Amino acid sequence: MTEKLYYSDPYIKEAKANIIDIIEENGKIEIVLDRTIFYPEGGGQPSDMGYIDDIPVVHVRIKDSVIYHEVTEKPETKEVICKLDFKRRFDHMQQHSGEHVLAGTFYRLFKGNNKGFRLGENYVTIDIDIKVMTDEIIEEAEREANKSIYEDIEVEAIFSENGNIEGIPVRKEVSVDKNIRVIKMGDVDCCACGGTHVKRTGEIGIIKILKTEAYKGMTRVYFNCGERALKDYEQKNNIIKTLKKIYSSEEDLIIDKALRQKSELDEVKKSLSLMKKKIAEIIARSADIKDNKYFFIYDDLDFETLLLMEDILKEKTDSLVLGSLIDKRVTANTKDIDFNMGRFFKENINNYRGKGGGPKDKAQGVFDDEQGLKDFAELLKSKI
Ligand SMILES: [Zn+2]
Repeated sequence: MTEKLYYSDPYIKEAKANIIDIIEENGKIEIVLDRTIFYPEGGGQPSDMGYIDDIPVVHVRIKDSVIYHEVTEKPETKEVICKLDFKRRFDHMQQHSGEHVLAGTFYRLFKGNNKGFRLGENYVTIDIDIKVMTDEIIEEAEREANKSIYEDIEVEAIFSENGNIEGIPVRKEVSVDKNIRVIKMGDVDCCACGGTHVKRTGEIGIIKILKTEAYKGMTRVYFNCGERALKDYEQKNNIIKTLKKIYSSEEDLIIDKALRQKSELDEVKKSLSLMKKKIAEIIARSADIKDNKYFFIYDDLDFETLLLMEDILKEKTDSLVLGSLIDKRVTANTKDIDFNMGRFFKENINNYRGKGGGPKDKAQGVFDDEQGLKDFAELLKSKI
């Protein structure tokens, strides 16, 4: 069994160890050491990374109490120097300890049990068995959890080899009956856990809930702790700074300004679509239809207007082709039962740097460039 140095002191960044086994299988090299500072993936916490004799450790796993370190090549000596990617590890410690504080707070204040924990690359989630979580609950839990950080409570790891944890008030039933490790944070939380934790809650820095969503009759809570939360704050602050410039506005007035602009834009869109309808009617009415055919490529009308025109013109024509150079799109209709419009588009449009198709009597296409559209339309004109 490997001695777990990450338990005796989770702050060790470097240590010597001896290789006791090397397993090579399917091109994968895994090393077993007599002692390790690398935490193996488990209990929702990802694997540590780092170096063994300057060889990258890409993943660490545990199986039947043996810890396997996957490395990119074989070390040359039996005695090796292990170096931990401590930035990654400390991030995991901040997130994991923060998770205990937050889950413990939901339990203490609202009797919500945590049924799932994932420490992801960008955020952490817990699944709390409260079906509907109000904004008040979320805000209070976040506030209280952060208070527990300000109080800088000691994080204790209690280990019971024989599994006797009587008198230790764990919030969750323990699934193993031997070698139980309990993480206790004063009165804030007490829970069996095999992860790595900070020494005191103050090191978590901050817990920020990002969002919640309904999940299998529970609520999934997304949050960040420590430096992740700071980075998130930096990013959001940059967004606010940019919005302040865009709206030439102070922070507290941005939302008002954005809402006002949105309703103005809605009005403009409404009148624009009325105008397009009017324009479509006028142009369609004066269209020069010859032999029940109408063919025109417009450089000043958008595709939306052409579709409105199409509605009117298709009643008056047997064959109709309308193109917009603004949107580089074409729409076509035919009543000729001997001509398959959809197939014509499908078979020819690729040669003109376009994409499109449709059923037998109508089709639409979009082109990469104007020339492609014009040439395709000429070809179509010669066929209908
Ligand atoms: Zn845990």
